[in-house]
Amino acid sequence: MNNELLRTLTKVDEMMNHTDIVTLLRNNSRKLVLDCVREAINYYRNAILEEKVKENVSIKTISNKTIEILERKKTLNLKRVVNGAGIVIHTNLGRSILSNNAIENMINVSKYYNNLEYDLEKGKRGSRYAHIEELIKSITGAEGALVVNNNAAAVLLVLNTLCEGKEAVVSRGQLVEIGGSFRIPEVMKFSGAKLVEVGTTNRTHLYDYRDNISENTGVFLKVHTSNFKILGFTEDVKLEDLVVLGGKNNIPVVEDIGSGVLVDLSKYGLSYEPTVQESIKKGADIVTFSGDKMLGGPQVGFIIGKKEYIDKIKKNQLTRALRVDKFTLAALEGTLRHYLDEEEAVKHIPTLNMMILTEEELKRKAKRLKRKLSSLKNIFSVSIKEDNSMVGGGSMPATCMKTYVININSSIFSEKQIEEGFRKYKIPIITRVYSGSVLIDVRTLLEEDYNVIYDALKEMGERA
Ligand SMILES: *Cc1c(COP(=O)(O)O)cnc(C)c1O
Repeated sequence: MNNELLRTLTKVDEMMNHTDIVTLLRNNSRKLVLDCVREAINYYRNAILEEKVKENVSIKTISNKTIEILERKKTLNLKRVVNGAGIVIHTNLGRSILSNNAIENMINVSKYYNNLEYDLEKGKRGSRYAHIEELIKSITGAEGALVVNNNAAAVLLVLNTLCEGKEAVVSRGQLVEIGGSFRIPEVMKFSGAKLVEVGTTNRTHLYDYRDNISENTGVFLKVHTSNFKILGFTEDVKLEDLVVLGGKNNIPVVEDIGSGVLVDLSKYGLSYEPTVQESIKKGADIVTFSGDKMLGGPQVGFIIGKKEYIDKIKKNQLTRALRVDKFTLAALEGTLRHYLDEEEAVKHIPTLNMMILTEEELKRKAKRLKRKLSSLKNIFSVSIKEDNSMVGGGSMPATCMKTYVININSSIFSEKQIEEGFRKYKIPIITRVYSGSVLIDVRTLLEEDYNVIYDALKEMGERA
């Protein structure tokens, strides 16, 4: 039975003469089309062998499969999506999107040669970090600065440089796991630092650090518990107190603050998060944080602080392995320049801008989307609802921001079908399903997204 079906499968040569395939050859190379034909025939051969197909496979079926395979080969896997989830720093959706400034800089250094490691003043080799070090120093108030691939790399590099073979003293309340299985204790192991846990999950006192100082203490490490909150009977040691204790004993204090907030957003109605500048002002020897969380830039890890330590870190061979490329530096410089003026930053950096949208602005966005979708009302009913959005990226876990969502239902499609239709659209749209409806949070929508949502729904409707 199987063998008979296999024998009737159209041969490659015959496929190549089929009109649909001949059409493909107009715009594609023979080699590419041939590969796709072979793949399509193979697909049905396996389906027959696995008894998933039990009837003759027509030449048309194989040519359709060939077209599908070719389409897939020509579409990118990593692509734009519409963030309708309302989570501003959505780790699965690429965290922060960049400001126009940052994007333009990136295009420029991609398209042309640039002075990445060339000192234009002196006409000789320069440092790739020179382009941003002064900028970071002037924004944060730190004596020295360095960026590496991401914050996990920053923590690794700092501990490896300052604490290899020595003890890093950490509060038990701060042994955190960040998403993607980044665990502070595991990173410490890789760095060669020995973890000394002090205090308890909910309470750690200054004497816990003091009583655990030994000849072999390398650093005091403070980790910002950015993605969870412990409430109730809790106590934590203040950075400034740890700095005094560290200073007396010649032990550097390293603070991993995770989300690098450079602007105090409480004046825009958000909950207060400690800023990078404050940590420096309070005397932390080294501060590390991410570039693509609340800072709103590309993926990097910042290492800033006292010059003597930064210089040591720069000389570590690991620094070379963790270095950032020219695109990252271009995007970073473009982002950081906004911070020279705080008002510019919140206006031009999308992550900040989305977080501080006012209720009125959000309502206006929602009304606009509703109006846009209203012509599809014979299939989809659309209404505006109040809801909450999250910052995401492990930042501000206890903060819910009031927002407006577009609530979509249909008597023809289930909410699951609508969600899937959106998700599998050529520009995927990520939504939330909640109690029988599909929700699109307008907070994270961009100007260009409105048409995409309309087109996706319209196409879905046409298939009904
Ligand atoms: C997010 C985070 C990290 C990891 O940063 P990446 O840039 O994602 O590598 C490390 N520590 C803390 C406290 C964080 O919040």
